[in-house]
Amino acid sequence: MLRVTEIFRSIQGESTHAGRPCTFVRLTGCPMRCVWCDSEYTFTGGEHYSIDSIMAQVNAFGCRLVEVTGGEPLAQKEAFTLIKRLCDESFEVLVETGNYVSTASLDPRAKVILDVKCPASAEEPRNDWSNLERLRADKDEVKFVIADEADWEYAKKVIKEHDLETRTNAILISPVWGQVNLEQVANWIAGSGLNVRMQLQLHKYIWGPEVRGV
Ligand code: SF4
Repeated sequence: MLRVTEIFRSIQGESTHAGRPCTFVRLTGCPMRCVWCDSEYTFTGGEHYSIDSIMAQVNAFGCRLVEVTGGEPLAQKEAFTLIKRLCDESFEVLVETGNYVSTASLDPRAKVILDVKCPASAEEPRNDWSNLERLRADKDEVKFVIADEADWEYAKKVIKEHDLETRTNAILISPVWGQVNLEQVANWIAGSGLNVRMQLQLHKYIWGPEVRGV
């Protein structure tokens, strides 16, 4: 059984898959406490679902793209089984994970979106750096949520030290909602010469930052 906060169909709001129809399976619980977290409602509660029950709901929505997210989805061991089942049933699977739990046991058919924690999150010391060694240039993406210029400098350092421009499908720079001047971030990126992309959270612009299940 897995503890699930919500399962819903929407468009993908982030990553290079933004704008595509997508079913989201949002699992409950997270061992991290990023200070700017926008999904604290996942920390507690949720309902227990069998994998068969989750698959029935995912199949009913009819999207071929499925994102398993949280919370921290990989904090529940059975999430690895769910992801394998989704891959077995030929879904295109995205796994958004906060770089705390090891991705070593993840089904290799799933695409990883690895959320590397920057200093302003207050969770940077908990990054599992071995996850970066497993990134695959043809499918995986790395995300840096940045709250200030120090986070941007940190992201640049990690990108260079781990050669992420050649070892990932995309590097996403995602400003914390309402906390960073977007024009400034655009200028930092434009002037960096790095092969990164600015990412805005599309769903928040469409439905507003507080609306859930979209
Ligand atoms: S890892 Fe994600 S869900 Fe967990 S506290 Fe950080 S932002 Fe929130």
